[in-house]
Amino acid sequence: MSEEKLEFQAEVSRLLHLMVNAVYSDKEVFLRELISNASDACDKLRYRAITEPELIADEPEFRVVIGIDKEARTLSIADNGIGMDRADLISNLGTIARSGTSAFVDGLTGDSKKDVQLIGQFGVGFYSVFMIADKVDVVSRKAGDAQAWRWSSDGTGSFTIDEDSREHRGTTILMHLKPDAEQWLDAEHLKAAVKRYSDHIDLPIALTTDGNVEETVNAASALWTRPKSEVTEDQYTEFYRHAGHSFDEPWLTLHYKAEGKIEYSALLFVPTMRPFDLFDPARQHRVKLYVKRVFITDEAEGLIPPYLRFLRGVVDSQDLPLNISREMLQNTPLIANMRQALTRRVLTELKRKAEKVPEEYGTFWENFGAVLKEGLYEDSERRDDLLTLARFRSTASDGWVSLAEYVGRMKEGQSAIYYITGDNLESVKQSPQLEGFRARGVEVLLLTDPVDDFWLSSVHDYDEKPLKSATRGAADLSELKRDDDAEESADEAPVRDAEIATLIALLKQNLGELVKDVRSTDRLTDSPVCLVADDGDLDMRLERMLKAHQQTQQSSRRILELNPKHALIKGLCARAQESGAADDLADIAFLLLDQARIIEGEPVPDPAAFSRRMAAVMTKAV
Ligand code: ADP
Repeated sequence: MSEEKLEFQAEVSRLLHLMVNAVYSDKEVFLRELISNASDACDKLRYRAITEPELIADEPEFRVVIGIDKEARTLSIADNGIGMDRADLISNLGTIARSGTSAFVDGLTGDSKKDVQLIGQFGVGFYSVFMIADKVDVVSRKAGDAQAWRWSSDGTGSFTIDEDSREHRGTTILMHLKPDAEQWLDAEHLKAAVKRYSDHIDLPIALTTDGNVEETVNAASALWTRPKSEVTEDQYTEFYRHAGHSFDEPWLTLHYKAEGKIEYSALLFVPTMRPFDLFDPARQHRVKLYVKRVFITDEAEGLIPPYLRFLRGVVDSQDLPLNISREMLQNTPLIANMRQALTRRVLTELKRKAEKVPEEYGTFWENFGAVLKEGLYEDSERRDDLLTLARFRSTASDGWVSLAEYVGRMKEGQSAIYYITGDNLESVKQSPQLEGFRARGVEVLLLTDPVDDFWLSSVHDYDEKPLKSATRGAADLSELKRDDDAEESADEAPVRDAEIATLIALLKQNLGELVKDVRSTDRLTDSPVCLVADDGDLDMRLERMLKAHQQTQQSSRRILELNPKHALIKGLCARAQESGAADDLADIAFLLLDQARIIEGEPVPDPAAFSRRMAAVMTKAV
C-alpha cells in the first residue's frame, strides 16, 4: 500500500490552527501530554498481558526512551506500550472522539488569550506537539501485529499514512523542532522537564543524546504508593495533571491508605476549574482503577458516584484479583464497598474545607455544587452530609448561605425554610411571589440550577423544618410581622374579604377552567397578581422544564392570586359591585391572568387576543 493522504476532522483542524499560531506561554505541556500518553499505552498493555502474556514475551519490561538528535534537530519519544494500527492512527490522531468537542470548538472566540485558556480546560493532548514542531512523524506497531505504520503531518489540514517497519511493538513520536524550540535539543533542559513530568509514574524514562548511553531520569515509582510525608506539593500537582490530563491546580488533594476490611490506596483530587464537559450526560468520573499497581481501567463504573464525577486521581486496590475483567468489575461488592468508603472520605474532607476556608469553598461550590446536589436524590444515605455541604444564594445576602445559617436566623414564628426556583438569579429575584417575604424580612433561598427541582421533590425537610416553595400552596405569612411598618396606613389597608369575594367570583366566572382557583393573598406587596401552584401540583418551573424535554404533556392549572392592597385590585373590587360588571371585567380578567403568566415566564397562549384586549382597555383609559 502506498502513502495515503487524509484530512483532519474539521474540529481538529481548527484546534491545530490555534495551536500552531497560539502564543501559548506554556509550550512545555506537550512533553507532559506525550509522556502521559506513553505511560497510558504501557498501562493498557500491562493489563492485557495479564491474560495474553505472549504480547509482551519479547520485551517484558516496559519503558520510555526520549532521544535528542542535534544534527537532525529532532526530539523523539518512544514507548513499548500497546501501539496503534492504521485504523487506530487515523481515528486517534485525526479526530477527537470526546463528546461535546464541536460545541467546545464553536465556543472558541478567536481572541487567542481567551482561547488558550479554554484550550487548557479542554486539554488538547497529542495535538499540542504542533506548538514546538513543524512536522511530526508517528511510527507505531500494535502489540501482536507484524506490520508498523507511519503517520505524518505538518499540522495544517491533513496527514499521511503509510506502511513502515519497527523492530518491536510500541510507538515513536518524532518531532522536527521549530526554529524557536531549540531548547529541547539541550539535554540538561530536557532532563529537568522530563523529571518534572514523570517522577511520579511507575515507568522508567531514559534519555539518549545523539545515540549515546541511556540514563534513567525519573524515580519511577508510583506516587500514591509513597508515604504522604515524602511527597511535595509540586509532585502532587504534576501527578494530578498527568492522571487527569488537566492543566489547572488541584484544589483539594486527598491521599490515604485504607487498611482493615478493605485495603486500598487513594490519591484523589478536586480540580480548581470546572471541566468544560462536567454536565455532559456522557461524562464519567476520571478516577483510574489500579489493582496492586497495575492499571485496570479509567472507566470503573460504580467506583465513584456520579455526583462526585469531578474527582480525578487513582484508586489502587489490594483486594481485587489482577485478572478481573472490566465486565466483572461492575458486579463485585468490593467496588461498592470502596465507593462507600471513598465517598465518606471525600465528603468529610469537603466538610473540613468548608469550615476552614469558607471563601475557597464558595468557589468550589460555584463550580461543582450543581453536581453534588444530584447526590441529594441519588444517595439517600449521604443526604444529611450533602445538605450540610450545600450552599445557596438567598434574598438575605449576596454570598453563599448554608441551611444551618438559614435556620439560625429564621424569624420568630417562621416554621418553614422557604425557597423559590428559577432560571437565573436576576429574574428570580424579581419574582412577585417574593414581595410578601421581603416585607416581613423572611429569607428565601434562590435556587437556579436545573437539578434543584429534582432534589427538592425528594428532600422534604432539614433540621425538622419543612422546605417550602414560595410559589406553591398558600403563603402562611399572616402570622409573621412586617418589618417595614407596624401599623398600616389607611392607603395600605387591604380591601375587606366581602368586597373582594365579588371580584373573585366574577374573575372565576370569566376564566373558567383556565385557572384552578382565584384567591386573595398576603404574598404580594407591589404587584397586583401572581400565579402559584397548588399544594399537590408540580412547581411551575419544573413543569416547564419537563415539557421542554418532552417528559410531560401535562399542564397543571394554576392559582391566580390577588393582592388585596393593590390600587388596581381595590379599584376592581369597587367596580365589581356595580351593575354590568361581569361583561366589563371580561377583558380585564384575561389581562390579569396573562400578566401573571408573563411575570412567571409562562407563554401567553393567545398573543393576538392579549393585544386586542390590551388595546381595548387602553382605549377606554385615554
Ligand atoms: P487523550 O490522551 O486525552 O485521549 P490524545 O490526543 O493525547 O488524547 O491522544 C489520543 C489517543 O491516541 C489516545 O487516547 C490514545 O488512544 C492514542 N495514543 C496517543 N499516544 C499514544 C501512544 N504513545 N501509544 C498508543 N496510543 C496512543
